[in-house]
Amino acid sequence: MNQNFIPLSVPNLKGNEIKYVTHAVETEWVSTAGPYVNDFEEKIAEYVKAEGAISCQNGTSGLHIALQVCDVTREDEVIVPTLTFIAAVNPVKYIGAEPIFMDCDDSLAMDVDKLLEFCQKECSFIDGKLINNRTKKQIKALVVVHVFGNMADMVKITEIAKEFNLKVIEDATEALGTYYTEGKYKGKYAGTIGDVGVYSFNGNKIITTGGGGMIVSNDEELLKRAKHLTTQAKSDELYYTHDEIGYNYRITNLQAALGLAQLEQLGDFIKIKKDNYYLYKERIRHIEGLTILDFKDDIRPNYWFYALYCDEKYPLNRNEIIQYLLTKNIQSRPIWGLISDQKPYIGSQTYKIEKAKTFLEHVVNIPCSSNLSREDVMYVIECLNNPEKL
Ligand SMILES: *Cc1c(COP(=O)(O)O)cnc(C)c1O
Repeated sequence: MNQNFIPLSVPNLKGNEIKYVTHAVETEWVSTAGPYVNDFEEKIAEYVKAEGAISCQNGTSGLHIALQVCDVTREDEVIVPTLTFIAAVNPVKYIGAEPIFMDCDDSLAMDVDKLLEFCQKECSFIDGKLINNRTKKQIKALVVVHVFGNMADMVKITEIAKEFNLKVIEDATEALGTYYTEGKYKGKYAGTIGDVGVYSFNGNKIITTGGGGMIVSNDEELLKRAKHLTTQAKSDELYYTHDEIGYNYRITNLQAALGLAQLEQLGDFIKIKKDNYYLYKERIRHIEGLTILDFKDDIRPNYWFYALYCDEKYPLNRNEIIQYLLTKNIQSRPIWGLISDQKPYIGSQTYKIEKAKTFLEHVVNIPCSSNLSREDVMYVIECLNNPEKL
């Protein structure tokens, strides 16, 4: 086989990365101070039209801070999705709070009808607080994830959050660049609609800083507190006075240099991902038993990840597809295992989880890197078109 290995999702570093990182090294600004850090924060805020942005070490630490600036404490509970990457939920436990797991809808994001039903039927709204009938604890926030670059139903989610006094944390780690093109939130970017949003610049995300993240918000107070917490909670810069427990979560100038170079190319990356998405979608439509899941109609997605749905009409099941593609030098992977089924979360409260189980059985992610060529895509399609039982 002559075919080069086609990875699932890898970085694309062909812009000003070397130039900016070299500059950071040459000027000896390599740590958490330095001009690229502020510049990167400003440019991200500008790009997604947020009031401000505070950098952090990764998406996970950003979510840890996001929960704290939303005043989630160990006394509280937080509504979370079950079908997503576990880093969306672990920070709830870092704080000592408890997650309540929700099902997904066809967009793979949180099912808003079940969310509303849960708030109405399983909780009591007393003195402005949503109390979980089962545990008598207050539910203070919800974490919504914009899965694979799609957009959760933010219109309904913000309505429900308002009705029940919940803070909305958007895990937009996969959705940098996704925005509404219609409706109430037309022009608004994923991550900027709830109280606080978080992006990730991990190596597999649409832009990368190696590791890194960003917290965005339109609330000045909340941003100020996020900055305070990510920089060791100093109340005085010079005299080492600290007014609470802070963290060393700020991004470094080296990472930010990489991030700025990547951000310059985000528009191009989205365009390539879009073209490859439609190429896959159009061709795979003709293969019986396979479809590429849609993004929503009222948004411009960032087309980050492609979800291949296989049903019983296709000769291979999910696991067989993954194994078969590997023999063809193509990397693919199943969607995440449900978080509520993972060892640390067995016993956590769940609400009517059904659809997530179906997607788990049937979804495979296929190569989607922004440096994937048209030939690579055609090769993957050809392999899917000629399935072999191993
Ligand atoms: C990538 C990701 C994270 C975590 O981001 P890191 O930067 O890797 O810590 C959190 N949630 C989701 C949904 C992700 O895909």
